[in-house]
Amino acid sequence: MSQQKFNQARFEAALTRQWQYLGLASASEMTRHQWWQAVSAALAELLAAQPVAQPGKAQRHVNYLSMEFLIGRLTGNNLINLGWYDAVKTLLAEQGVELSALLEEEIDPALGNGGLGRLAACYLDSMATVGQSAIGYGLNYQYGLFRQSFAGGQQREAPDDWQRDRYPWFRHNAALDVQVGIGGRVIKNGDGSLRWEPAFLMRGEAWDLPVIGYRNGLAQPLRLWQATHAHPFDLSLFNEGEFLQAEQPGIDAAKLTKVLYPNDNHQAGKRLRLMQQYFQCACSVADILRRHHQAGRALATLPDYEVIQLNDTHPTIAIPELLRVLLDEHQLSWEEAWHISSRVFAYTNHTLMPEALERWDERLVRSLLPRHFMIIKEINRRFKKLAAQQWPGDEAVWEKVAVLHDKQVRMANLCVVSGFAVNGVAALHSELVVKDLFPEYYQLWPHKFFNVTNGITPRRWLKQCNPALSALIDETLGHQRWVTQLDALTGLEPYADDKAFRQRYRQIKLDNKQRLAAWVQQVAGIEINPAALFDVQIKRLHEYKRQHLALLHILHCYRQLRDNPQLDKTPRVFLFGAKAAPGYYLAKNIIYAINKVAETINNDPLIGDRLKVVFIPDYCVSAAERLIPAADLSEQISTAGYEASGTGNMKLALNGALTIGTLDGANVEIAEQVGEENIFIFGNRVDEVKALKANGYDPKKLRKKDKHLDGLLKELEKGHFSDGDKHAFDLLMNSLTKQGDPWLVLADFADYIAAQERVEALWRDKEAWTRAAILNTARTGMFSSDRSVRDYQQRIWQSQR
Ligand SMILES: *Cc1c(COP(=O)(O)O)cnc(C)c1O
Repeated sequence: MSQQKFNQARFEAALTRQWQYLGLASASEMTRHQWWQAVSAALAELLAAQPVAQPGKAQRHVNYLSMEFLIGRLTGNNLINLGWYDAVKTLLAEQGVELSALLEEEIDPALGNGGLGRLAACYLDSMATVGQSAIGYGLNYQYGLFRQSFAGGQQREAPDDWQRDRYPWFRHNAALDVQVGIGGRVIKNGDGSLRWEPAFLMRGEAWDLPVIGYRNGLAQPLRLWQATHAHPFDLSLFNEGEFLQAEQPGIDAAKLTKVLYPNDNHQAGKRLRLMQQYFQCACSVADILRRHHQAGRALATLPDYEVIQLNDTHPTIAIPELLRVLLDEHQLSWEEAWHISSRVFAYTNHTLMPEALERWDERLVRSLLPRHFMIIKEINRRFKKLAAQQWPGDEAVWEKVAVLHDKQVRMANLCVVSGFAVNGVAALHSELVVKDLFPEYYQLWPHKFFNVTNGITPRRWLKQCNPALSALIDETLGHQRWVTQLDALTGLEPYADDKAFRQRYRQIKLDNKQRLAAWVQQVAGIEINPAALFDVQIKRLHEYKRQHLALLHILHCYRQLRDNPQLDKTPRVFLFGAKAAPGYYLAKNIIYAINKVAETINNDPLIGDRLKVVFIPDYCVSAAERLIPAADLSEQISTAGYEASGTGNMKLALNGALTIGTLDGANVEIAEQVGEENIFIFGNRVDEVKALKANGYDPKKLRKKDKHLDGLLKELEKGHFSDGDKHAFDLLMNSLTKQGDPWLVLADFADYIAAQERVEALWRDKEAWTRAAILNTARTGMFSSDRSVRDYQQRIWQSQR
C-alpha cells in the first residue's frame, strides 16, 4: 500500500464543521487550544476512511495485550506518519496559525508508567509500519500517571486529568461493547458441566485510537476498554438476594478504569488492580473471538489466525479466561481447549526482580474469579504430574515450578506453562531468564525460549523529535529510506571523519541544547549554559537504576571545585527527569536529596555556571522528546543484571549522546554496535555482582577504606545540603550503609568516577567527541522497533504453532 494523499478540500470542510460545532462565526475566533482540537478532530474524521491492514496469507494477526501504552502526543506524530505535516502546516500558516505552537497544546495521554508502556507504543507504530496486522488492547484510564511538581525539593503528586476536554483522536464504537462479570459462584449444570454465575456485570466500552503506519496507507486500532455500568436489565441475570448480600461492597464499575497504578517494576497485590487486569483481558478475549467468529472461522483454527502477546504478566488472566470461554461457553473438552489456548499465548518477560514478579493471593483470585481459579488449579494439577515425571522425587523443583504455591498464584509460571513462547527483551536479559529465572522450564521446553531485543520507533525518536538532524541525514544519505530502514544510517560512518560534517552535526546539537536551555528556564527557572556538557539521566526513579550513584558523582565534582577553585574542569549541566511511585519513600528521598544538592550548588557563587543540577518536573514522553536531542551524555548506570533492556539508552545513543553505562540490559548490545571506543563502560558485571553478594559485601568496610567517598557521604549526613537537618536523607543513607547497599552503589563508585574522567578527557577534544557521537547515530540502526517486530514475526508469531 502507499501513502494516502492529503485532500485539502475535505480537510478544510472538516475543519469548518469543527468551529461551527463550537458555535463560532469563523475559524479566527478559536483559541489556540481549540485550534488543536479542531485540527485533530478534522484529521481523525479524514482518517476514518483509511483502509485497515489486512494480514498476509501466512500471517497471524497479533493481539498485543498490555496494561499500559505510553503513546505520547498523537497529532504531530500522526501528521508525520501520514505524510501530511507540511501540507497542513502551509494551510494553517495561511490562517496565521503556527502548527508547531498548536501541537504544544496537546496534553500527553499518560496511559503508562515508563519503559514497558512506551515499548508497547513503539511496537504499535512499527507493526503498522511494517504491515503486521495487529490490535493493541489496553485500558482507557481516565487519570494517567500523576503530574509531578516539587515543593521545597519534595515530590508532589497531582491527578493527571488528561481527558478533561474531549480527546479528539478517540472513537467509541458501541457495536464493540462487551459485558464482563466478576465475583459470584460456580454452578453445576444438570449434565455435570460448570457455569460461572457472576455477582456483578460491567460493560466494557471500546475506545479506539488510530495507529498510523509510516506513509503506507495503513491504520489499525489501539483499543482501550473503559468500564461503565451494565444495562439495568442485566440485573435480572442474578437474583436480588444474592446481589444485596454479596460481599463485594462498592463494586462501582465506572471506578474500575479511573486510575493507572503508578508502579514500575513493583507489584502491589491490590484487589482493584486484579479487577482491572481481568476486565481488560475479558474484554479483549471477547473481542478477539468475536472477530474470529465473524470471519466465519472454526474455533479449532484460532491459533492459525491469532496470537496473543502478553506484555509482561499483567494480562496473564487472559489465559484462564480463554479456557473458560472454550470450556463453559463452547463446551470443548479440556484437551481440545488446551490444544487451542496453548498455541495462542506468548509471554514477554520484563524483569527478574522477585519484588516485581506478580503473585496473587489465592483467596483474592477465588473471590473475584471463582471459575478462573478452578481452571488455574487444573492447569497446576496437570503440570505437577508432568513435573513429577520429569524430576522424580525432586520436591524442591516441583515447588519452584508450581503455578500455585504457598497460597499464591504465580503469574509468570502460569505464562510459561500455558504459552508457546517466552522471550526476554535483550540478549543478556534473555540469557538470565533461561539461566537464573526459569532453568527448569528451559530444561523441559528449550524450544519455548527466545530473545527479542527491544527497540524504539525512529519516527518519533529521531524524525519527529530531532528535525534538524533528520534533515542532515536526508541530505547526506540522499534519501529518506532510513526512516523505515534504520540500518541505512551506517551510510553516515564515513562522515565521522569529515570535518565539515562534524561541524554541522555539532551545530545541530548546540541548537538543540539552546532550545532546551530556554525551556529549562521556563519550567525550572534555572539558567544553564548550552556550551556545558549536558549529562542526562531520564527514567523512572528506582534504586536499581541508581540515580543516587549519579548524585554521588555530583557531590564528587562539587568537592573537587571547592578543594581546587582554579581547577580546569569540564562545565556540566546534570539533567534529571524521573517520577517516583507515591508509596516508594526511598525513591522520593533520592529526589529530595538531588533537589537539595542542586539548590546548594546552583546558588554557590564559587561554582558559577561550571556545575548546574536541574531536576525537570513531570518527566513524560513530550519532555523526553525535548531532552534527548540535546543530550551529550546518557546515564545508563543500573546495577548489572537488573535493567532488563532499557530503551532510553537507545533513544539517546541514536540522537548522538555517548553512553556512560554498566554492562547491563541492551547497553551490552549498544557497546557491541558502537564500538568500545565510543562508549564509557564501567562497574561490576553480572557475575561480579553475584560474587560480591555471595561473599558478604559490606559497604561499611568499603566506606572506611575510601576516605574521599566517606567525606562525600558525611556531607549528606551532617546536613550540609539540608539546612542543618541531619536526618533529611536518612532513608537514602540507611540504604547505602546499614541496609547493606543492596544495589552496590558504593561498590561501583570508584570505577564510575574513573569513567567520568574518561568522559571529560574526550569532551576536551571537541572533534574526537563529535566523531564518536556521529558513530553512535550511524551504528544504532539495529535498535529500531521495526527490527524488533520483524524478530517477533520470524521467531515467535509466524513460526511456532
Ligand atoms: C523511553 C522512556 C522510558 C524508558 O526509559 P529507560 O531509561 O529505558 O528506563 C521511560 N519513560 C519515558 C517517558 C520514555 O520515553
